[in-house]
Amino acid sequence: MFCCFKKTREVCHRTNCYQVAVGDVILGGYHNVAIQSMIKIKTSNVDTVINQINKLVNLGCDLVRVAVYDEKDAQALKQICIKSKCPIIADIHFNFLFAIKAIEAGCKKIRINPDNISDIDQLKQIIEKAKEYKVAIRIGINGGSASKNSGVETQNQLVKRMLNWVNFFEKQNFKNLVLSIKHSDPQLTYKANVLLSSKTRYPIHIGATEAGPNDLAIVKSCSLLLPLLNKGIGCTIRVSINGDPEQEVYIARAILNQAGLYHNFVDIIACPLCGRNKFNTIKIVNKVHQYLKDKKCHLSIAIMGCVVNGLGEANLADIGICIVSTTKSILFIKGKKVKTINNNNINSELKAYITKFTKK
Ligand code: SF4
Repeated sequence: MFCCFKKTREVCHRTNCYQVAVGDVILGGYHNVAIQSMIKIKTSNVDTVINQINKLVNLGCDLVRVAVYDEKDAQALKQICIKSKCPIIADIHFNFLFAIKAIEAGCKKIRINPDNISDIDQLKQIIEKAKEYKVAIRIGINGGSASKNSGVETQNQLVKRMLNWVNFFEKQNFKNLVLSIKHSDPQLTYKANVLLSSKTRYPIHIGATEAGPNDLAIVKSCSLLLPLLNKGIGCTIRVSINGDPEQEVYIARAILNQAGLYHNFVDIIACPLCGRNKFNTIKIVNKVHQYLKDKKCHLSIAIMGCVVNGLGEANLADIGICIVSTTKSILFIKGKKVKTINNNNINSELKAYITKFTKK
């Protein structure tokens, strides 16, 4: 629906690529960039997995991937697909039979790395099954799986490896493809995806892989995803964090919001604080942030530590607080000074107005 490239002459890969359906989620064209995450517990723990999937969906996740590691996981897929609120993607490595079973169980997309499915006939069987069930296949080329090559692959080598496989799938008359090239080096991943987007019209899945712990993963994801999204590349994104999948979804929403591609997001403007601040602003900001993480509405909230930049920022936000002394703050609503409030009441006042806005 949103594309930053409408105003420029450069071709936007996202809006010009083929559209691929993953259940009721369409990748490509003017459809929203789909947010995906991955379940981090064993797939055979059906009830816990379903709880986690549906929690992620409520937080704004469009697609969820599960790893199919063994026969128990493969057996669990049918129940998971029935009970999930979103289309399920099965992540398969090495064993082609799990791919066949995942498709038959109702998964709407499978993610494979063809380089680790050794037998071409096995790949052909996966493709035929995917055709029969109208299931999409993501070809996932990963820098970490370049076992046949020594050393670090260049972007040209990664793209070449991908295009060879695309050619193979097309020869089997299969075009329901999503492509991803990932590497633990975000700069290399960026270059490879830019190159890939110039050579193909299939939807591209983007994300920084093996990105590390929370703060580092956020830095790597932003440094990779925002430039790609701003270039019109990426129909679906995953933020990979060595941690909570709920955080992955929140960060993905925030990144898309910053790229102008996702509007149902509450943006919080808060100053970094300095010696002029006279109240415990950090506590207020943290509380509001926690409260707003799962809210899906277009809203801006400014919480500012003093009048230097505070009056202006609070004035520009939908809901603005400018702390003016140790006891008093000014509350702004949509650019109008509404009242002076006691600092001890900032949270309750904010919550009341946020409720009003989010109910609309
Ligand atoms: S708004 Fe005031 S308290 Fe906040 S960083 Fe600026 S000068 Fe410091």
